Amino acid sequence: MEQSRYIRVRFLGKGTYGEVHLYTDTQTDTNVAIKTIKVLQEGEGIHFTALREIMILQELIHPNIIRLHDVFYKNSNINLVLELAESALNDVIHLTSDESTTKGLLKQLLEGLAFMHENSVMHRDLKPGNLLISRNGQIKITDFGTAKIVCDVEAPRTTGVCTLWYQSPELLFGTKHYGKAMDMWSVGCIFAEMINKEPFLKGNTSIDQINKIFNTLGTPGEEDWKGMNILPNYWPSPASPRISFVRAFPTASNEARDLLEKMLMYDPRQRISASQALQHPYFSTGEPHASCGDIARILSNYIR
Ligand code: AMP
Repeated sequence: MEQSRYIRVRFLGKGTYGEVHLYTDTQTDTNVAIKTIKVLQEGEGIHFTALREIMILQELIHPNIIRLHDVFYKNSNINLVLELAESALNDVIHLTSDESTTKGLLKQLLEGLAFMHENSVMHRDLKPGNLLISRNGQIKITDFGTAKIVCDVEAPRTTGVCTLWYQSPELLFGTKHYGKAMDMWSVGCIFAEMINKEPFLKGNTSIDQINKIFNTLGTPGEEDWKGMNILPNYWPSPASPRISFVRAFPTASNEARDLLEKMLMYDPRQRISASQALQHPYFSTGEPHASCGDIARILSNYIR
């Protein structure tokens, strides 16, 4: 692709593998975000995370997944031309306290995730910073550098993925046989954060994180999570009771609390899936969910 087509406007952000800048596409007269990723070393090719992101984004075309428009190579850099989404959920999470806005954002996140999971992709790093919001109020799941294509065969997977605060207990206990349910744990943590406007479980280390989970949701027994005690990093923890969700989430409706509990089930086999969550009564009762237009209006002062 002819790179002079793009005129640089300003810096947008820095990720683990490259910088992202706002450009104007002179052919379409629209703004785009271009992520620039350096090749490892001369002759060594590009970093595998870039390849992974390109391969996955080319397949996943959905309104709630960031769109990859184009890829070009320039000055030993690979450039991903992405749809622009000027805000991120972590910048605006303090605005999501009312049920209608939270419901609208969660619905979009689940729709994007259900599509991704139906297409056999796990994101593996869902967090508010990776949920961009476009000017027209649409959630755009981004940063597929650690995403993975899953097949039905339970092949061992890499451990150490996912940001600590959003990491599921099976990952914290070192399992290599995790699945799409790990993304749903992260969604539960994001949902809790939208309700209370602050991160739900803020651990400093893996041990601290698992202790925070147990002190909040109660220490699980064999009946809650069969097979937990054979996971590689399992250690027996002192029994801790579950806190009251009514007290922990006083502004949430009963349906919101019920859905949250189902997202935060210890046993990944019992955790609600993205498509099941979309059928939960939370979305069909009480406050109607905010539309993209409503979200765009609320967020209009926070566009970066
Ligand atoms: P990433 O490498 O994907 O983690 O991106 C690094 C940062 O660049 C993000 O935290 C955002 O601030 C920004 N960014 C990434 N993609 C986009 C996009 N499509 N539109 C606007 N900003 C973006």
